[in-house]
Amino acid sequence: MGRAQGPWSVAARKLLPAMRTWRQSFHEQPELANEERRTRDKVVRALRDLGLTPTVYDDFTGVLATIGADRPGPVVALRADMDALPVEERTNLPYRSRVPGRMHACGHDVHMSCLLGAAALLVRAGPRVRGPVRLIFQPAEEQGEAGGAGPFIDRGCLDAPKVDFVVGQHVTPEIPAGQIGWKKGPMMAAADRFRIVVRGRGGHAAYPHRGPDAVVAAAEIIVGLQAIVSRARDPVDPVVISVGTVHGGTRHNILPPEVVLEGTVRTFRPATRDAIERLLRTRVRHLAQSLGASARVEYVRGYPVLVNSPPVTERLVGILGEEFGDAQLVELAAPVMGAEDFSRYLEHVPGSFLKLGAGTDGPPATLHSPTFAPPEQTLVVGAATLAAAAVGLQAR
Ligand SMILES: [Zn+2]
Ligand SMILES: [Zn+2]
Repeated sequence: MGRAQGPWSVAARKLLPAMRTWRQSFHEQPELANEERRTRDKVVRALRDLGLTPTVYDDFTGVLATIGADRPGPVVALRADMDALPVEERTNLPYRSRVPGRMHACGHDVHMSCLLGAAALLVRAGPRVRGPVRLIFQPAEEQGEAGGAGPFIDRGCLDAPKVDFVVGQHVTPEIPAGQIGWKKGPMMAAADRFRIVVRGRGGHAAYPHRGPDAVVAAAEIIVGLQAIVSRARDPVDPVVISVGTVHGGTRHNILPPEVVLEGTVRTFRPATRDAIERLLRTRVRHLAQSLGASARVEYVRGYPVLVNSPPVTERLVGILGEEFGDAQLVELAAPVMGAEDFSRYLEHVPGSFLKLGAGTDGPPATLHSPTFAPPEQTLVVGAATLAAAAVGLQAR
């Protein structure tokens, strides 16, 4: 069962049967973003069983609860995400998904169970919890643009009382189970989406001189976008521009009047994000104009850069080192170009997003894969991590 030693881990291990039951129930009935109604009802039931009074919403599947609302100490928010993915499960787990084409393939079933486990630990800890602990069960992390964090913040999940620190965690098979990954500063990229409509004249493919050709203009734009990455930006400041879809035309000998391109932009610095949007808009327009065509750009901002507060992360490393032993804490070497809407909480409140080791000796399965199955040890470590983090951050 690993080398977890601290008091929270000992208590969390005793909670494993309850956490296992929650996890298996979530896992058997996965629900997609903003459809987490059964999941919400299960979370609400579990929180009520702990003596808490969860808040629910008519038009939103999130759940909010607070432990020790009237205590004077600092307010710590703990967040778990709730949604599953459109993946057909291929594990042999006895509690595998019962819903065709739906799976908790990103471990959000584990995140919710860990947060419920931490809630149980904190409720039992009584006056050792010196300030309010806000439990945020957030829907729709996988949605990509709107996400669940933004709407939840709009509904006041960081207010009344005002949250001082926020902590979240995500399972990862890239770290062995039992270990916790941490990183100060930028950790995950900002993710934006674009759609470019390239307009030409359209007509017979044998007479291209009669009007601007949207296909050739689109091709110039696809290649030209890569020159923004390689020639217009500092190479040590990571940027990705990828075109994911190209649509146009009906027949080999007809030039279409229009070609539509869609893609994603990943950046790490707010200034770079602004600069890339500006560059992309002007570059696309100029490339189209250079061939007599025109282009319209829609640019939609998605999740912001995830930036962990360095002082809060340092405190957490100390708190968790005491709980688990320093050897179980792993500093993550480099940021990744993936995105997470936990970043939205960090725009308002200092905090840190931790990686919860879920790696096993078995065949490696990545997040979102049909065989991803974090071991049960992650439940114990995840619950102990959140409880220790909340109480530790409330200490002077
Ligand atoms: Zn995911
Ligand atoms: Zn996830």
